[in-house]
Amino acid sequence: GFKCGIVGLPNVGKSTLFNALTKNGIPAENYPFCTIDPNVGIVPVPDPRLDRLAALVQPKSVVPTTMEFVDIAGLVAGASRGEGLGNQFLANIRETDAIAHVVRCFESDDVHHVEGRVDPVADIETINTELLLADMETVDKAIDRYGRRAKSNDKTAIAMRDALRSMAEGLDAGEPIRAQTLDDSGREVLGELHLLTAKPVLYVANVNEEGLSGNAALAQLEQLAARENARVVPVCAAIEAELSQLDEDERNELLAAYDLDEPGLNRVIRAGYALLSLQTFFTAGPKEVRAWTVTEGATAPEAASRIHSDIQRGFIRAEVIAVDEYLSAGGEQAAKEAGRMRLEGKEYIMRDGDVCHFRFNV
Ligand code: GDP
Repeated sequence: GFKCGIVGLPNVGKSTLFNALTKNGIPAENYPFCTIDPNVGIVPVPDPRLDRLAALVQPKSVVPTTMEFVDIAGLVAGASRGEGLGNQFLANIRETDAIAHVVRCFESDDVHHVEGRVDPVADIETINTELLLADMETVDKAIDRYGRRAKSNDKTAIAMRDALRSMAEGLDAGEPIRAQTLDDSGREVLGELHLLTAKPVLYVANVNEEGLSGNAALAQLEQLAARENARVVPVCAAIEAELSQLDEDERNELLAAYDLDEPGLNRVIRAGYALLSLQTFFTAGPKEVRAWTVTEGATAPEAASRIHSDIQRGFIRAEVIAVDEYLSAGGEQAAKEAGRMRLEGKEYIMRDGDVCHFRFNV
């Protein structure tokens, strides 16, 4: 699965957010291939297109696609030296594909702040310093390894060592790997090292119930994120926790009371999904309407393999209708009659929102 790790200092609202996310989640036992771990939540990806397809097709079952969120236990300054849950924390982040960094932007006399003040820029720096230090250690070790091999004039090893040295310089200057320009050797060695600061990041701003306006901490966070080209998703974890306890009618009432269109979690989930460079395709029939995930750039047979490896192996072609055309035509048959169905072969690169039938040899 595709995993997004939730990180942040203690007491910023990570667990509150994670619990709200997984409240409506899918019990892990329904996913035999996933490790059952209380810190991992399998979360359905909200998609209005799936709802509209289902309304049109009226299938027996509707299955959203999912992504995983991992609640990563609180990080404190000194984690890279093994303080707190330091090493465990860093090992858990290593296994994720992207990072949702929760930042406290709410004031509350009841909730202790570990550093004694609400200051998102300093908080982010605390976390980033630990991640940079951990990466420096990994990179230094790799420089030693490749350095030894470079002594025998191994050209590849020399190129790798040099790429690593330049990464180390960047890290020393406080530059995360994701912001560095790497050459081919650098990109290759990156695949081995699972560096923490190479992972894409989004910031989740945990604001209070009063919302977003006049929040100085949020404004600071937005400035920082703009410099990093990162996204900020503001939510109020306390409201999300409340919403996650309610049935649909009550939820809609509460959303209306706060003047919200949808739970903020939906935005967090979608932003995480986008951060992982994921996109959705659909299958639609009387038995099941279902959303599936592929990475951007996936070919039609790769998409077919999400459903079953046999379909990939015996792939002949895909019959594809863009979901918007499917919906505006009013169904598959009407879309076909309007000439909206395309036949696509093995080389076809999937587009977000394709509704597919795969034809294959058994
Ligand atoms: P974690 O250590 O980052 O996992 O933080 P928690 O989720 O355990 O939250 C720490 C405390 O802050 C708890 O008492 C929460 O109820 C409280 N809290 C979380 N989010 C909010 C919020 O949006 N507003 C307020 N006022 N309190 C919050």
